[in-house]
Amino acid sequence: MYNPKSLKAEEFISHEEILATLDYAEKNKGNIELIDEIIEKAKTLKGLSHREASVLLACDIEEKNQEIYALAEKIKQDIYGNRIVMFAPLYLSNYCVNGCVYCPYHAKNKTIPRKKLTQEEVRNEVIALQDMGHKRLAIESGEDPVNNPIEYILECINTIYSIKHKNGAIRRVNVNIAATTVENYRKLKDAGIGTYILFQETYHKESYEVLHPTGPKHDYAYHTEAMDRAMEGGIDDVGLGVLFGLELYKYEFAGLLMHAEHLEAVHGVGPHTISVPRIKRADDIDPTVFDNGIDDDTFAKIVACIRLSVPYTGMIISTRESEAVRGRLLKLGVSQISGASRTSVGGYTDEERPHDTEQFDVSDQRTLDEVVRWLMEMGFIPSFCTACYREGRTGDRFMSLAKNGQIQNCCHPNALMTLKEFLNDYATEETRKIGNALIDSETGNVPNPKTRQILLENLDKIEGGMRDFRF
Ligand code: SAM
Repeated sequence: MYNPKSLKAEEFISHEEILATLDYAEKNKGNIELIDEIIEKAKTLKGLSHREASVLLACDIEEKNQEIYALAEKIKQDIYGNRIVMFAPLYLSNYCVNGCVYCPYHAKNKTIPRKKLTQEEVRNEVIALQDMGHKRLAIESGEDPVNNPIEYILECINTIYSIKHKNGAIRRVNVNIAATTVENYRKLKDAGIGTYILFQETYHKESYEVLHPTGPKHDYAYHTEAMDRAMEGGIDDVGLGVLFGLELYKYEFAGLLMHAEHLEAVHGVGPHTISVPRIKRADDIDPTVFDNGIDDDTFAKIVACIRLSVPYTGMIISTRESEAVRGRLLKLGVSQISGASRTSVGGYTDEERPHDTEQFDVSDQRTLDEVVRWLMEMGFIPSFCTACYREGRTGDRFMSLAKNGQIQNCCHPNALMTLKEFLNDYATEETRKIGNALIDSETGNVPNPKTRQILLENLDKIEGGMRDFRF
């Protein structure tokens, strides 16, 4: 029985409720009156239920779809402005005991070399990432209680935060590791992590069990209830995601929004971010064997509908996607992107991009400087800001900042100051020129005169060599 407040996976992600939702969406996909009503509701920025959102996703009336895209762009602009937060993944270990059939790290893969970073190697990777200009990382690891126990992950986090190379610093470490216990989540919280990210992969229980035939990840309920344990352990910024291509996208979309509604209903705060990965080619993985791949237009529609449904949840797109796809999705709702990513263990310290231990093929292979310049040329402000969590603005405190419209007095100046740091420390001459002109024109867009004044003073101080200011 469907119950968003239940703590049981099969009740808050009810298969029957998803089927009923898909049926409702199919029957109403041409119901212009209802579609107009839902679009009007989305304009109030209060979000949409999974049923309402599913109707918009199913809608095949071209004119209404154009309205949905236009509204997604407007919501994106109204809430997030033109800032795009930058991050990079850091692969710690590809040892894994699970059998995920879409992932090259699966335990039975005998061709992929297994590697786990030593603390010295973590250090070198972090220095390489700092030297590009990164301030925010997402650490990634396979699941292996012997090779990558929680103590190893915690040690790596400690190492990462401790490294101060030249003007570099990693100021926020997000964590993407397998579902674990409340006790371990508490340890991660105490280690000072930002967001805990765990992709559901698929919300369809039967498919989930087939796609994860062996290992601890086979347990659908344990995996699906992980965010509740994370929140119980004190982590209030959690990141959801599904791996598009595994199951029918409409099913996943409804499940994803039900998961968000569940977190809101039980913990009073929805997901901090939603990621939208699509399956990619990798070592022994051929993405074409999965039947449910989605084309770029469907992918764009999903992103636009997520933007309307959870307006205050950040959306993340990785280098799994090409420059062209990323450019399109940024306008429709994506607020965070990775840059210059290497998805192999130890990949950042190699001169050439290594492919041997990669988790997936990287489509967007540009340098961070190139991505930053590209964003600015499209009118975006690349942001290296990590202020919120360092100021304790997590969970519902972040949400209230966003909902009170204070982003423009807080995130906007923080973006400009961290961009200025990047330009001075890491950018090429040309990127610096474009960036400084952008900063000059954007300082006027801080509404509060006092904040604007402090921003101008801080920008001067950064020019003079000082670092790490924030609102
Ligand atoms: N091992 C951890 C777990 O089980 O949740 C998380 C880390 S894993 C390195 C990060 C994510 O990469 C997975 O959750 C999965 O969605 C995604 N992934 C795995 N194989 C992929 C592939 N072939 N193409 C694209 N993404 C993939």
